[in-house]
Amino acid sequence: MSALPPTTSELSIENVVIAYGDVQIINGVSFALKEGQIGCLLGPSGCGKSTLLRAIAGFEPLREGEIYINGELLASTERTVPPEERQFGMVFQDIALFPHLTIFENIAFGIKHWSKQEQRERVLYLLDLVGLSGFESRYPHSLSGGQQQRIALARAMAPKPRLLLMDEPFSGLDTKLREELVPEIRQILLQEKMSAILVTHDQLEAFAMADQVSVMNGGSIHQTGSAYSIYHKPDTRFVASFIGHGDFLASVVCGDNCVHSDLGEIKGNAFHGRTDGEKMDLLVRPDDILHDDDSDFKGLIVNKWFRGSHFLYRVRLPSGKVVYCFASSHHDHSVGQEIGLSVHLDHLVLFPRET
Ligand code: ADP
Ligand code: MG
Repeated sequence: MSALPPTTSELSIENVVIAYGDVQIINGVSFALKEGQIGCLLGPSGCGKSTLLRAIAGFEPLREGEIYINGELLASTERTVPPEERQFGMVFQDIALFPHLTIFENIAFGIKHWSKQEQRERVLYLLDLVGLSGFESRYPHSLSGGQQQRIALARAMAPKPRLLLMDEPFSGLDTKLREELVPEIRQILLQEKMSAILVTHDQLEAFAMADQVSVMNGGSIHQTGSAYSIYHKPDTRFVASFIGHGDFLASVVCGDNCVHSDLGEIKGNAFHGRTDGEKMDLLVRPDDILHDDDSDFKGLIVNKWFRGSHFLYRVRLPSGKVVYCFASSHHDHSVGQEIGLSVHLDHLVLFPRET
């Protein structure tokens, strides 16, 4: 285990193990977050996201590994910098603004040791940043959920933390508000050049917010990368199934960059070092199989979902295998109808066949 402090990454998590008694909750995870970037811990409920975030904040001791910020050791098995000395900000799902304090006093809570003038400038700047100028003398109960969450963010940002930690901060908000607020908050963080880590189980939220997503399951990080790479180039079967919709098709390698499957023979890149005849499973996403009236390759519709801008169909291939298929929302076909399909796999994501 290398204990060399990193030079370029602002936050570095190295081989961290966390356990409660004999039960290991985090199994040796590593990732790094560059200065000013927004990272996300994404995974199903109970996979250990909050536990890892609490360790970063300083509330969980490490069984193994180290946590660094700007090369400075924050936590190891021997040493732990207490949470209040880490200069991190935190935002939680449970917004918990102080109900008896005004919005001004809420935001100024962590900077009361600043001069009155500095406090005022900072609070007014942050209110402007979160789009709530003029709200300073109001009380939390008079604000909507989204407005309260913006104030909670301003309060966490007020002391200019070195890192902002957010645990499911949007899950109490309705979908429409969340869709508006998440990209807005991303812009605010970018503008402030504030590094942040978001914990969420919602992949669309992760995609909208993060520069870098770490997909977790069962206390391990399966993959860290851009939203694009975890969707299109999943490293593990778990990532492939957890992110987006998809199916695995039994396939046999038939030469360089070529597999034979229920879709026939498919060529595509990102496929190396496989031997002819090797049995693999091919990942196919809805956007890999498109409805095409002119195609002779047919599928029978077994289910359909109208998604506004498109239809998502479930179709049975001639082999009997059922897959997803995308169609523009003008192509309204019925369950039981046969439709033409065309395959658009420019890269092949393959995993060793599970028996
Ligand atoms: P997530 O945030 O991904 O939903 P958590 O980090 O909250 O997951 O929890 C991960 C696992 O650790 C869960 O199985 C949970 O039951 C367990 N856990 C969390 N806190 C404690 C604790 N204080 N004592 C024992 N087990 C805990
Ligand atoms: Mg959690």
